[in-house]
Amino acid sequence: MWAYGTSKSFREKNIRAKTEINLPSEGITVLEVGLPEIKPDEVLIKVKSSALNYNSVWSSLSKPVDPFKLISGHITRNPSALDHDLDYAIFGSDAVGVIEKAGSEVVQWKVGDEVVVHCLVVNENEPASQNDSITAESQSIWGYETNFGAFAEFCKVKQTQLLRKPENLTWSEASCISLTLSTAFRMLISKNGAQVKAGDTVLIWGAAGGLGSFAIQLAKLAGAKVVAVAAGEEKANICKSLGADVVIDRKKHDFGGFINKDGSPDYIKWHKARLLMKKFGVGPIDIVFEHVGRETLGLSLYLTRKGGKVVTCAASSGFLATIDLRYLWMDVKKLIGSHFANYLEADQAMDLVRKGLIKPIVHSINPISALPEKMDAMYSGEIYGKVIFEH
Ligand code: NDP
Repeated sequence: MWAYGTSKSFREKNIRAKTEINLPSEGITVLEVGLPEIKPDEVLIKVKSSALNYNSVWSSLSKPVDPFKLISGHITRNPSALDHDLDYAIFGSDAVGVIEKAGSEVVQWKVGDEVVVHCLVVNENEPASQNDSITAESQSIWGYETNFGAFAEFCKVKQTQLLRKPENLTWSEASCISLTLSTAFRMLISKNGAQVKAGDTVLIWGAAGGLGSFAIQLAKLAGAKVVAVAAGEEKANICKSLGADVVIDRKKHDFGGFINKDGSPDYIKWHKARLLMKKFGVGPIDIVFEHVGRETLGLSLYLTRKGGKVVTCAASSGFLATIDLRYLWMDVKKLIGSHFANYLEADQAMDLVRKGLIKPIVHSINPISALPEKMDAMYSGEIYGKVIFEH
């Protein structure tokens, strides 16, 4: 079958040629590999459609960790996953398709079922997985920390990674409602996240992006006032169309450069950011939806009201961030770490899609051959919403 990812020989060739991977497209290749063998608790899926996530950009760039190292970490945590140890790695964490083959222990699902993949892999025998699976030591993200990801003709997953495809969505639309929607749901709505409530003011960075476009909709659905930050008119218009109450075009308003070269806070810029919020009529900010990291995390904490919350799941601009702790403890704020979502949260989030309350924002539907080029576009910040591939 065909697949997109990396192989050890492809990587070695780059290393021998001393070619640095500067763009995601340089770190991904087409593979011709055998069909994955399924275990008794797994299914083989004929992939109909997949969607791009930033984790594949990180995989291609080998930043901050090489994909083969990530997979070997998964095997260390899950010794029975030795079948993932191959000389290739298939990327991709969002897929939708039809079950082609089901293992002998698969009871809830059958051949022919139309399914969306939930990208959390866990050892269900680990006690923590029964409470909140993301906290289990064995937990990994499928297609990032494991092999056999979405960008292939067929993929394989555990039966506990399956969700029923919403009938009201096309294959393409359904391929992009798992990873970023579930993540945003846990961050904002779940008891494990910031628990937005009606009347709250929520500031959302990258608000037209994969996470942000779902975050706006979830916050509005909860009755919050949304302050969306996005770069450029096209993205600003998307935020408005999703119901954002205030949209700050960070290009137009020179809303950036919040840290000095050494990563320390530029307090003057922070103060100006607060003044800009006032100018836009933004009152006390209850919650900040963070994923930018180094560039904005300190500012996010500064901008939040006393007793407010910053919830973060990523660090696109760098994971070594400086925060001024005074704004944390003196103002009794909370910094909440969040990562993907457990199965229940993913299903609750998808239910909102099934009920027509949340919709995916589709940037484009492409042939899978466009994957490398779309990854570069995502890396350079050109993308809004979700990029989809038909297989
Ligand atoms: P997108 O590329 O779709 O959107 C990210 C947006 O962030 C960009 O479009 C940009 O918006 C904004 N941004 C990037 N850099 C800066 C900056 N320096 N200052 C302000 N805004 C910036 O990506 P996703 O939303 O899908 O993912 C975002 C991050 O979250 C990635 O690092 C990803 O790996 C991570 N992630 C983590 C998950 C988890 O479970 N832990 C799950 C999903 C994603 P604009 O230019 O318009 O302001």
